[in-house]
Amino acid sequence: MSLAEITARIRDSEAEAGRAPGSVTLIAVSKVQPPERVEAVLAEGQRVFGENYVQEAGFKWPGWRQEYPGVQLHMIGPLQTNKVKVAVELFDVIHTLDRPSLAEKLARLAETRGSSPDLFIQVNTGEEAQKAGILPGQADDFIAACRMMGLPVVGLMCIPPEDEHPAPHFSMLAGIAERNGLTGLSMGMSSDFQTAIAHGATHVRVGSALFGSRAYQK
Ligand SMILES: *Cc1c(COP(=O)(O)O)cnc(C)c1O
Repeated sequence: MSLAEITARIRDSEAEAGRAPGSVTLIAVSKVQPPERVEAVLAEGQRVFGENYVQEAGFKWPGWRQEYPGVQLHMIGPLQTNKVKVAVELFDVIHTLDRPSLAEKLARLAETRGSSPDLFIQVNTGEEAQKAGILPGQADDFIAACRMMGLPVVGLMCIPPEDEHPAPHFSMLAGIAERNGLTGLSMGMSSDFQTAIAHGATHVRVGSALFGSRAYQK
């Protein structure tokens, strides 16, 4: 789908859900995509992008940031502790705050740098053993702990189990956010971003629907 088509679908879903036009941000997930596909979307005016790997983002984005002013880069992949220092320099927003040790590291870096990327806390709504994220039952305490550390937590993020209907997971995430006074909801990918918007998503992360299928899956 073209950028214009995806944007039109987002605007339609906002309207159907009775939400303000422009209340949903499209994050174009450019991981592993050939540079020419990303450049085409940059040339069409898209400025918000998501990447999964710190090293790959570090190779690709400094040049594009110079060429296309106003780029906002979102980290949406698991963040290893030894890459955090580089990540906070590279990304404007991190969606994968998923454990206490990472919160502590981000808080220390925020103190020394005097600033921090905005943060989404990843919640493992399906309680899947192989998936990162705070368990739903521990989310309230973790959100409170992050706030105590002074971290700029702006919302919650989830990746529903592949073999389940995503809607109950989106509702669960929205409920946790609401009772904790968080307004950001990073949920919805190529196959389910319209469902996510119906459930309150503020940020949808769309890769293959926009850029085409990824040549390989890391
Ligand atoms: C790769 C990825 C996406 C984009 O997935 P598509 O199905 O290609 O839209 C979204 N969110 C996360 C966390 C991802 O890793």
